[in-house]
Amino acid sequence: MRFLLSLALLTTLSQALPFSLVKHEALGGDGPTLFVIGGIHGNEPGSYFAASVLAQYYTITKGNLWVIPNLNHKSIMMNSRGVNGDMNRKFADIDIHDTDYPIVDEVKKIITDPKVDLILNLHDGHGFYRKEYKNTIFNPGAWGQTCVIDQGTLDCDHQYKNLSTIASEVSQGLNNGLIQDHHIFDVRNTNTRFDDEAMKHSLTFFAINHDKPAFAIETSKNLPTLEEKVFYQLRAIEGYMRYMGISYNRPFDLTTEKLKEIIKDNGFVTINNKINLNLENLRKDLSFIPLESKSNGFSFTHPLGGMLQEEGKYNLYIGNQKISSLSPSIHEAGQCNEKIAIEIDGKVEKLDFAKEYLIEADVSIINKSTTRTNIIGFTHESKKDESNIHVTLKDFDPKYSIDKEAKAYRVEFYRENDFCGMALIHFK
Ligand SMILES: [Zn+2]
Repeated sequence: MRFLLSLALLTTLSQALPFSLVKHEALGGDGPTLFVIGGIHGNEPGSYFAASVLAQYYTITKGNLWVIPNLNHKSIMMNSRGVNGDMNRKFADIDIHDTDYPIVDEVKKIITDPKVDLILNLHDGHGFYRKEYKNTIFNPGAWGQTCVIDQGTLDCDHQYKNLSTIASEVSQGLNNGLIQDHHIFDVRNTNTRFDDEAMKHSLTFFAINHDKPAFAIETSKNLPTLEEKVFYQLRAIEGYMRYMGISYNRPFDLTTEKLKEIIKDNGFVTINNKINLNLENLRKDLSFIPLESKSNGFSFTHPLGGMLQEEGKYNLYIGNQKISSLSPSIHEAGQCNEKIAIEIDGKVEKLDFAKEYLIEADVSIINKSTTRTNIIGFTHESKKDESNIHVTLKDFDPKYSIDKEAKAYRVEFYRENDFCGMALIHFK
């Protein structure tokens, strides 16, 4: 991951917004800009996992790609279309007291940014669109597998004003390379101005009323796997990039097998800069995690990473998947500046908090300070301070491990009752 990010010519991530905005820009920032929005509806994972793969892995060598992977982040974690109602019906007018107001207001500013040339709003839609009614899955009312436009052409003069032509070209491109024949794509024109009262409140209609070409991509909710939805979303987005002359690098082959692997990579979370957890193999429930009483900072490497406080627990999410539930043990922040070392298989090095150490056979925390060492799950002699003892894997009660394989354990440091930090010792 770190290697891939360093390949990006220029990638910026804005932290102040209620969502992430990732900008991949070729040197100089010249050329057309595509703006992709994932996760306006929280129960459409194809949309936000595709945007997340785009944000994390793609690099741009010509033109610019701006991505919001997690527009409606709370709804994503709660797997709800919209915890505060349908966000995609709030773009014509919105009450300033609406909880979604700051998000809608910010995204409107980005849509109308003079630099943005074309906008894609990603969705997972019901069924498979067909011009003729066949059954409840295949019919003219279905949204799945469509490039949606609000009208055939923009009202103003614009390089990309022929919405219908562009959507047809992208859709034809998608149809060369379907996983199954019935996944065929088509253009669905909602004729919003004349025929569709609800869509007049949508993000794309807001965009075209501000002279910005905008499209929705709808992959079918009826596709059997998440990776198939992401596959079609990414192929559609690449189709729009090609149309616009945006050049990109994707460091993997676009196959469902590869996407399945990539989607599984949950990354890490850092808590209060003192605790670092690998979200790959973490236990579903963790107890007595030292957190602070007032506010705790959770920082995820994955764009869809988030924390929700539910029933006294701190639940960690990647997209709509709950990865782990932390039961807190409340401690105030301790100041521990003494040098602590760790001896790993006979070799001594400095110990840092929020770091994982790989152990072949045995480990010992070398600590002559007043900071107390607590090795969680260590079963031998019960001591107040567990520094300066050689510890091996068989000394642990496996139910205290942090990982599902019972190989990784917590080492916590305290000054009296205040928490200083945690390191992980991970036996190979
Ligand atoms: Zn949707």
